[in-house]
Amino acid sequence: MLILLAGIIIDVDHLWAVPLFDPNRCSIGFHPLHSYWAILVYCILPFFKVTRIIGLALIIHIIADLVDCLLLR
Ligand SMILES: [Zn+2]
Repeated sequence: MLILLAGIIIDVDHLWAVPLFDPNRCSIGFHPLHSYWAILVYCILPFFKVTRIIGLALIIHIIADLVDCLLLR
């Protein structure tokens, strides 16, 4: 449930972007929730029991986006 929620929260980040979908755009560093300080926060979250699942869900999302970026180059 929490994983689902975290996934939805960070996916909203993609919906804010204009244009909505750009296959040549790297999400990392572009969206507010994909900025480097945000990723830093996600890396800290799993160290706390309460935010562990949500942190991992967010990191998995970031890794997925990162792989997309690497495949583009
Ligand atoms: Zn993303």
